[in-house]
Amino acid sequence: MNQYIQNVLETVQKNHGHEAVFVQSVTEVLTSLEKVIAANAKYEKNRILERLVIPERAIIFQVPWIDDNGDVQVNYGYRVQFNSAIGPYKGGIRFHPSVNLGVLKFLGFEQIFKNSLTTLPMGGGKGGSDFDPKGKSDREVQTFCQNFMRELYRHIGPSVDVPAGDIGVGAREVGYMFGQYKKIVNSFDSVLTGKGLNWGGSLVRPEATGYGNAYFATEMLATRGTSFEGRRVAVSGSGNVAQFTVQKVTQLGGKVVTMSDSSGAIVDEEGIDAEKLAYIMELKNVKRGRISEYVNFNKSAKFIAGARPWGLTEASIAMPCATQNELDLENAKDLVKMGCIAVSEGANMPSTIEATEYFKANDVLFAPGKAANAGGVATSGLEMSQNAMRLSWSREEVDAKLRGIMKNIHQSARNAATEFGEPDNYVMGANIAGFRKVADAMIDQGV
Ligand code: NDP
Repeated sequence: MNQYIQNVLETVQKNHGHEAVFVQSVTEVLTSLEKVIAANAKYEKNRILERLVIPERAIIFQVPWIDDNGDVQVNYGYRVQFNSAIGPYKGGIRFHPSVNLGVLKFLGFEQIFKNSLTTLPMGGGKGGSDFDPKGKSDREVQTFCQNFMRELYRHIGPSVDVPAGDIGVGAREVGYMFGQYKKIVNSFDSVLTGKGLNWGGSLVRPEATGYGNAYFATEMLATRGTSFEGRRVAVSGSGNVAQFTVQKVTQLGGKVVTMSDSSGAIVDEEGIDAEKLAYIMELKNVKRGRISEYVNFNKSAKFIAGARPWGLTEASIAMPCATQNELDLENAKDLVKMGCIAVSEGANMPSTIEATEYFKANDVLFAPGKAANAGGVATSGLEMSQNAMRLSWSREEVDAKLRGIMKNIHQSARNAATEFGEPDNYVMGANIAGFRKVADAMIDQGV
């Protein structure tokens, strides 16, 4: 390995070994930059890698709140403002008990390259809390969101940092946070994306990550002269990204045979069509139920408690859309054994490094999350543009722009991979294309 990259990785490992997923994402990115670093002495001279792996700023705060029993609760709040070389910090907010600084550093670090790939002017950031909205009343969620924003508001702004949703943060939570921000600063700012349609949101933003994932996969499959048409597709998760991945894949002629949540996976050999998906959306978004309930609605389907969807049934395309490290080497082997030819990541870093290597070694087309799921943040960028112009584009207009952006991301990742001699290596291509723009901007702006 290039000596400069090795030195930086050793330092990150030494200082942050306890932040395992952060170290994993830094390792994945830096090792794939080997050729571009070796060919350009300016990056080492300006110590770009050392500067890239340290957030420009990380804020940790307490969020005290009162539950429905009148008891005082307290959670951690975080915002990691990672890199602002090409625009204001931009990245979602995650509410999940597993959230800690290391998880948000991993997500913020990935976001730098993803946002750069979209071609829009957005820096990288991420935030969240270890608060678990699951099982909480609507009033408790509202109280928590308001108290979270009571501190966060002073660190964000339309030209400073613009958060959005992520795991555990959807339209409801964005609404409560936006309402509180507006009350405190007395200004209707474009400070969050994923807003409701009648108060500044963009058409297609809810669908954008999943649709973008399917659009990216379409481009990637086309390089092998194939498409979703008639193919069986395994999807994991049943939240925002999974739902709209399933919707678009189905519209494009694919047959989705699995979905999941943290309690297990469903297999539906007949395919999850539009009507069945509508049931799942109502179940997860309105009733806030569990995926296991799907078998009550569709008796021929199976629920396998505690299982991940990989290898439960044949599928030639896999689209992990739940969470990080949900697809390991064993899962990758099962997928390949059962005929998988392509993987497109809707979630952030759902495949472990070993699984990714296995796909590569077995000639499976592999789209890393930072390219395949960039449609969400890209459409957030479009929401910011519409807010700045004080107008709204039609559904067709936003969808066409999203499609165009995903096509461009695919092309720039492929071009960079081809330039360095490995046209099918989307991990290397996406990382190099995202990195160059940010690194050059950092050099332009001085130390
Ligand atoms: P949601 O909260 O809407 O859905 C998350 C889904 O993943 C749920 O089905 C959840 O199950 C499941 N899940 C969460 N944690 C685990 C776990 N530890 N094990 C198994 N299943 C789990 O989140 P999103 O759909 O928004 O996000 C999914 C992924 O996509 C994340 O990696 C996120 O970072 C990424 N992403 C999201 C974007 C967006 O626009 N929303 C943009 C780009 C990336 P359960 O209901 O049981 O918790």
